[in-house]
Amino acid sequence: MAGLLSISEPNANSQTPTNTLNHSANATHDLLAALATDATTVNSNMGVKHSREQIAQLFDLPLMDLLLQAQTVHRQHFTANEVQISTLLSIKTGNCPEDCGYCSQSGHHRDTTNLQAEKRIEVDKVIAAAKRAKASGSSRFCMGAAWKHPSAKDMPYVVELVKEVKALGLETCMTLGMLDTEQAAQLADAGLDYYNHNLDTSRRYYEQVVSTRSYDERLDTITNVRNSGISVCSGNIVGMGESRDDRIDWVHELLKMPKAPESIPVNLLVPIKGTPIGDKVLAEGELSVLEWIRTIAVTRICCPTSYVRLSAGRESLSDAEQALAFMGGANSFFYGDKLLTTGNASQSSDNRLMRELGLTAQFAAPRAPKQVPVMDAMNGHQSQVVLAE
Ligand code: SF4
Repeated sequence: MAGLLSISEPNANSQTPTNTLNHSANATHDLLAALATDATTVNSNMGVKHSREQIAQLFDLPLMDLLLQAQTVHRQHFTANEVQISTLLSIKTGNCPEDCGYCSQSGHHRDTTNLQAEKRIEVDKVIAAAKRAKASGSSRFCMGAAWKHPSAKDMPYVVELVKEVKALGLETCMTLGMLDTEQAAQLADAGLDYYNHNLDTSRRYYEQVVSTRSYDERLDTITNVRNSGISVCSGNIVGMGESRDDRIDWVHELLKMPKAPESIPVNLLVPIKGTPIGDKVLAEGELSVLEWIRTIAVTRICCPTSYVRLSAGRESLSDAEQALAFMGGANSFFYGDKLLTTGNASQSSDNRLMRELGLTAQFAAPRAPKQVPVMDAMNGHQSQVVLAE
């Protein structure tokens, strides 16, 4: 069986004392220990890819079955209850030549969003922000610039930022638009850990989102990043008016890559007034949060060793909705009161939520999955399990 724990039909004679799960914390701990399986004996679906049809079947599962599978897969590959925390800083804001329909930074929507454009931030200010991020518990510092691609004169600036931030003991990530092979190599030489370049949605829906660049150009940059040795961060935006088929196709695109991105942000659209997509969604209604949670869980199952990140959209979510997203296998989020231009959950509310959920922060350095014993949580329960072939 590839990837998931063995699932059996309901068995009245089962020796598994599932009712004791309701007992005290100690009893529960003992039960978990008794049920624990050495994770190394569990088949791994690393390297095994779900077909498009299997991805669609996952989306169709009853939500609780999907969440349980996703959490089980998550625990096979990551330390339970541990989350990686990143901080994002905009190092050059607004006036972007691209026309992404959801983005307030596009110069094409400047007159309707009234976003205040800002030039490149000085290096020492970026370093000061990185120090604050580290002090507050972030292990990765992400820097974003609203460019179509970095120019030749921008490259020494971004290379210096990578070196300075790395010297603080933080992982580095950048999102600067398209990169050619030479630029990717320069950033790799500087020590850049991750490069973010989102596919946003399916190939089919992409032309409804942006017209100034193609899906293939997106994939070309991801290939250049991958070939340079930098880890790939590539995610989506859910709730832009796309269909479930588009969300299925987006997951399938990740699996068509030679290697799935190491980091996958699953954004929930923050509809911004004055942007074409924001205005449309505000007029027609937003997508159910549960569909975003489904997308997270399917992503976790299909990309079991990737960090799945809660990104834009968290600010408006309840504690319970975020808890379900973590149950669905998300294990990373952005920390700080602001993302590139949109608001984010406050640090104090994130600290409180982590305490209440019993989550701890993963610190920089260990990137290899630390496996932990896995409970055969679904044993004795009927479930529709969708396995990769
Ligand atoms: S999403 Fe990025 S590339 Fe698109 S308009 Fe905004 S800043 Fe530019």
